[in-house]
Amino acid sequence: MSQPIPVNTPLLNGNELKYVTECIETGWISSEGPFIAQFEQKLSAEVGRVHGIAVSNGSAALDIAVKALGIGTGDEVILPAFTIISPAQSIVSAGATPALVDTDPNTWNMDVNQIASKITSKTKAILVVHIYGFPVDMDPVLALCKEHNLFLIEDAAEMHGQTYKGKKCGSFGDISTFSFYPNKHITTGEGGMVLCNDDAIAERCRKLRNLAFEAGRRFVHKEIGWNYRMTNLQAALGLAQLERLDQHILRKREIGKRYLNGLKDLKGFELPKESVSYADNIYWVFGLIGETQASTERMIGYLTKKKIGTRPFFWCMHEQPVFQQMGFFKNEKYPEAERIARNGFYIPSGLGLTNEEIDIVIYTLLHA
Ligand SMILES: *Cc1c(COP(=O)(O)O)cnc(C)c1O
Repeated sequence: MSQPIPVNTPLLNGNELKYVTECIETGWISSEGPFIAQFEQKLSAEVGRVHGIAVSNGSAALDIAVKALGIGTGDEVILPAFTIISPAQSIVSAGATPALVDTDPNTWNMDVNQIASKITSKTKAILVVHIYGFPVDMDPVLALCKEHNLFLIEDAAEMHGQTYKGKKCGSFGDISTFSFYPNKHITTGEGGMVLCNDDAIAERCRKLRNLAFEAGRRFVHKEIGWNYRMTNLQAALGLAQLERLDQHILRKREIGKRYLNGLKDLKGFELPKESVSYADNIYWVFGLIGETQASTERMIGYLTKKKIGTRPFFWCMHEQPVFQQMGFFKNEKYPEAERIARNGFYIPSGLGLTNEEIDIVIYTLLHA
């Protein structure tokens, strides 16, 4: 009987131990340590942004991004119906109203052709979320932002190293965010970053990250912020991971292609596309979509029995009990988003996965 294959295993085989050891030997373990500024500078340079503001996680980065742009009560923000809750939660927590668009079945991202119909006089921003492997089709989004004078927020948590028409994900719009959760392309355990080009917005982000401390008398506050600071230990991991980003991306694409090739004869499940006109898949996770909810659940059950980790796809925002209770999205329907949320799941996709493990997963799927 083979060993369990977890849905994610991180890869920490570069300078991680060396840099973390340095934190411990020097005593720099808090957010005051020297690795934080280095990590911020290296990552923002890599993405092509002026400023990077390291924070405690990717959801915190989104909270800061929304608030730093001054989005609040009375404002509307357009985002995909199919996403992790983090971006929607940041909008709602800021007092603004989320407006949803359905999914493009080719990329599983927001269908950009449906954005225009959601723009009202209250719309303040479009929040794009690049999901699972492909970037959102950015050109139409950029055109709408320009035409209607809207902010653009880019949740690039899953897209480190990915490009849209050759331009780095995380470099679009007014502000962008990354997560460094252990299943992302680079990890700090928990962690995130806000990126922008504008000096004043960057200053706002730094302030909101740090309890909104004022420049003058310490401990006197004029507004509410958060303690969303990253520690030096996290930044140490991040620096080491960033040194290996190119290898990580190559490996992600190898894993994706090995699965695609091995599963091409799998019946009853839709597989991710290898590329679209504006990007090659980066396979943050390798998702499959069954024909029915029942066939999907059967397959997940079989893989679980065989000790192969899976995750169901995200659950739609308009179907979240918490948002329904708050009165959002009454009677709204997003059929594509609902279909992939119900019938989609992903298989082990982490950077620590070996080819032998991939082949076991393929064999198991083909013999279910
Ligand atoms: C992982 C992720 C987040 C949240 O990041 P955390 O660091 O887990 O808070 C936000 N958005 C997307 C698209 C993600 O994949």
